[in-house]
Amino acid sequence: MLNLVLFGPPGAGKGTQSAKLIEKYGLVHLSTGDLLRSEIAAGTALGLEAKKLMDQGMLVPDAVVIGMIDSKLNANKNAGGFIFDGFPRTIAQAEALDQLLAGHNEGIHCMLSLRVTEEELTRRLLLRGKDSGRADDQDEAVIRKRIQEYENKTAQVAGYYAAQGKLREIEGIGEIEVIFNALCSEIDA
Ligand code: AMP
Repeated sequence: MLNLVLFGPPGAGKGTQSAKLIEKYGLVHLSTGDLLRSEIAAGTALGLEAKKLMDQGMLVPDAVVIGMIDSKLNANKNAGGFIFDGFPRTIAQAEALDQLLAGHNEGIHCMLSLRVTEEELTRRLLLRGKDSGRADDQDEAVIRKRIQEYENKTAQVAGYYAAQGKLREIEGIGEIEVIFNALCSEIDA
């Protein structure tokens, strides 16, 4: 299995690059944001609870996203590997992911971290909000809160993987293809 964490602040390009990476490497894409939006669309109790936090740009509780990842890992036992996109977002989530993968005799090979300035993130998210229909992409205050949550709770997750020698940083501003090639070079290495 090839298990990758695609990391970076909201708007860094994780979704765009994940789509290209799963195609090239035959991986299963696990985006906790997408999974939560499916729960909301299905009108589940979990989705309704999560929506309140997501609309404010706040993280949902660790137990919720860890539970979702656990069931997806169990449902995809024959996968060639996984790309984790938007997960883990806290140290507790990173520890839980290591434990869950260990339960399948697996682990994370590397974390690919996309580096993008806050100014560029805000610009991209507002642009995306125009046609994605995502409420959390349309309000500058919510975008600021999401970036704040990233800085307060998520940025330190890079250190967790750096301590394991698994962190690879990639410039996230530029042509999509150029960034994709940089990601592939790291993976192939
Ligand atoms: P995303 O699509 O990754 O930008 O996520 C959208 C929203 O879903 C985030 O702003 C959070 O409210 C929530 N969310 C997604 N993934 C996580 C996670 N791993 N931990 C906590 N909240 C999450």
